[in-house]
Amino acid sequence: MPELPEVETVRRGLQPVLEGATIDRVEARRPDLRFPFPEKFAQRLTGKTITALGRRAKYLTMDLEGGPMLICHLGMSGSFRIETADGSDMPGIFRHDRSKSSNHDHVVFHVVSPAGARSRVIFNDPRRFGFMLFAEGLPDVHPMLAGLGVEPTGNTLDGALLASLMKGRRSPLKAALLDQRLIAGLGNIYVSEALWRAGLSPLREAGTIARPGKKAQAQSEHLAQAIRSVISDAIAAGGSSLRDYMQTDGSLGYFQHAFAVYDREGEACSKPGCGGHIERVVQSGRSTFYCRTCQR
Ligand SMILES: [Zn+2]
Repeated sequence: MPELPEVETVRRGLQPVLEGATIDRVEARRPDLRFPFPEKFAQRLTGKTITALGRRAKYLTMDLEGGPMLICHLGMSGSFRIETADGSDMPGIFRHDRSKSSNHDHVVFHVVSPAGARSRVIFNDPRRFGFMLFAEGLPDVHPMLAGLGVEPTGNTLDGALLASLMKGRRSPLKAALLDQRLIAGLGNIYVSEALWRAGLSPLREAGTIARPGKKAQAQSEHLAQAIRSVISDAIAAGGSSLRDYMQTDGSLGYFQHAFAVYDREGEACSKPGCGGHIERVVQSGRSTFYCRTCQR
């Protein structure tokens, strides 16, 4: 499943081609992906101008002049490819390689820019866990988007807001951070990284960073900042910073220098002066990586 930074880099890659463009034609080459396409899917998109390409959590949102809004999810293996007169491009860098086989090109948007340039934006998805749905009226009441928590990007999530979200929670801190109703779009990799940066144990009770007093206040400030920075660093690196790639000797390796703890079980903690080692524990069926020496 792509993480938020991957989705955001896809959005940024598609934005120059899609925003302001008019949809000339849409091909849906099968009746469904994870869900059936909405009724009159292609027909309702044809002729519409795309006024904005946004993102909410891991959903891409396409605002269309006169409505509706199109909600897209990449699922496990979805990707977009842009084909212009100048060539082709796949925006976003993913942890796992994306398919380039045209057998899995399921949706093709033929768009025309305000200057008259024609492009094709193709959605490819071998496993078909992705989807495209319409949101009518207010997008936040759509079942996919309703109830999502705050975005971990931008400046909304500060120490005070994070403390208010964690207040009184008895669940482990990591589980609370993964709760999409509290913070939207934060995934397993980035929660582990943010907790390491903030020096907080994933196992501690979530509510402990919201107790009265300066210590908890500093912890919630530090963690909010760590969450925002880990996400923005990953976006700046072009999506996932853990990506299959060919090493110079030809073997498949991982480009993981940007990760401090994720998938680093047994390695020395890289925090200066710590001396601890990265451990892996399983919480709610998912791996958590942390250093018990500097994360308390
Ligand atoms: Zn450490």
